[in-house]
Parts: sequence; structure tokens; C-alpha cells
Amino acid sequence: MTGFVYLVGSGPGDPDLMTVKARRLLDEADVVLHDKLPGPEILGTIEAERREDVGKRAGGEWTPQEYTNKRLVELAEEGKTVVRLKGGDPFVFGRGGEEAEHLAEHGIPFEYVPGVTSAIAGPGVAGIPVTHRDHASSVSFVTGHEDPTKEESAVDWEALAATGGTLVVLMGVGKLPDYTAALREAGMDPETPVALVERATWPDMQVATGTLDTIVDVRDAEGIEPPAITVVGDIAGTRDRVVEFLRTRT
Ligand code: SAH
Repeated sequence: MTGFVYLVGSGPGDPDLMTVKARRLLDEADVVLHDKLPGPEILGTIEAERREDVGKRAGGEWTPQEYTNKRLVELAEEGKTVVRLKGGDPFVFGRGGEEAEHLAEHGIPFEYVPGVTSAIAGPGVAGIPVTHRDHASSVSFVTGHEDPTKEESAVDWEALAATGGTLVVLMGVGKLPDYTAALREAGMDPETPVALVERATWPDMQVATGTLDTIVDVRDAEGIEPPAITVVGDIAGTRDRVVEFLRTRT
């Protein structure tokens, strides 16, 4: 009998922010395929015998997506109930779509189990709503991993600068200098507030703030590293109004 694959979002890392369904499926699964993004607290709740790490391997190499795809099918064909655990939501820069297509192609039944995405929760726990009646009527979720200088870039920074809304950049720590420059060149005010939220909802979460002009120096001075969310827009400045009274992880 063919098994079943659940594409499950873990949320941003705080175990209390997992859905009830994710928690139940993690407890019931025969095997959990995961990378590092769900974070040590959540991964620590799954016995080592039921876990397979398909994230970064020793030596710094990434497990190729083809391997993960193949492994999902293999385990399901053995009749296993498999959880493919992803940080945040599986369908937000999580390759959940690719895995869903691969499973369908191989006749494996699957279910998508949404999670709290770091794209919204990351800014939120730092005191930054992604929309606000006075500051942002739209929000764009963007990958920062792309090289903005490459000619056929899939991310149109000029168009994004023109929206006037909030920009939430994922995978955007390394390329921060490139896309902040691209946004300034596109006419965005260099004084536009920018916030970096590293390890949102993890016990060692860190927040750093600056402007389009200063944020690269701030990143370096504060030692901000992935995983982190970048929030660009007036809205990032509203944090100052609430931060004194904002508590996290109570
Ligand atoms: N599917 C995930 C995103 C995966 S892409 C989601 O919905 O959240 C990987 C990027 O997600 C990281 O580079 C980082 O930008 C962001 N990210 C994921 N978890 C995070 C966290 N706890 N804190 C800050 N950023 C996080």
C-alpha cells in the first residue's frame, strides 16, 4: 500500500506557533524529512530515529532537491507516512510546489498543511505589522537571493520600489548591499526605514534597524546572519512607537 506525504509548515521556530495539526502529524509520522529552518526547539521534539536531515550536509553542501524529491517518493512507496517539515509555510519560498508536483507525477497522495510564515510573523514579532492604514496598503514578498545586477533577474526592484508598500525580503542577508542599492537607484528615499529580524521567535532572536542608506553597516556592526527577514518601508519605522511595551515569547 502506498503511504502518504504531508507537506507541513513548522511556523517560524517557536514550538507554540506550530499548528495543532502539525504537532499531531509530527508525533504520528513514521519519518520526518526536514532541514534546519524549523529550528532546534521544534526539531528537538522529534526522536533522532524518525528524523532525516535533508538540509545542509557536513562540508557546507546542500542536499540537491532531486534527492529530497526521490526520497519522498521512495518512503511513500514503502508505505510510510512521511512528514516533509518546512520552516514557516511550505508554499512560501519553500519549494513545496516543486515537491507537490513531483509527488503528483509519481502518484503519491499528499496534503498541504499551512504554517505561520516568517514573512509575516518575523516582522510582527519585532513590532512591525506588514500593512497599516497610514503606512502601507500593499505588501510584497521577495527573494533577496537573486543577484539584482544579473540581466534577466526575476525580481523587478524598480517596480517594487514604485509600489510604495511594504517589501519583505526573504533570504536577503548576503545580497543586502545589492538590493538596497537597486532600490535607491530606483528612486526610493535613502532615509526609508529598514529592519532586519534574525531568528524570529527563536530564543536568540535579534532585531536591527536602520535606513536604506545605513542598514548594511548596521547588519555588519550587529552581526546579523541568516535566517533573517528584511523589512523595507515606512512601516518599519512604526516599531519605535510600540517597542517599549512589546513583549515576546511570554
Ligand atoms: N517557508 C519559509 C521561508 C523559507 S526561505 C517561511 O514561510 O517562513 C528561507 C528564508 O526564510 C530565510 O532566509 C529567512 O529569510 C526566512 N526565515 C525563515 N524562518 C525565519 C525566522 N525564524 N526568522 C527570520 N527569518 C526566517
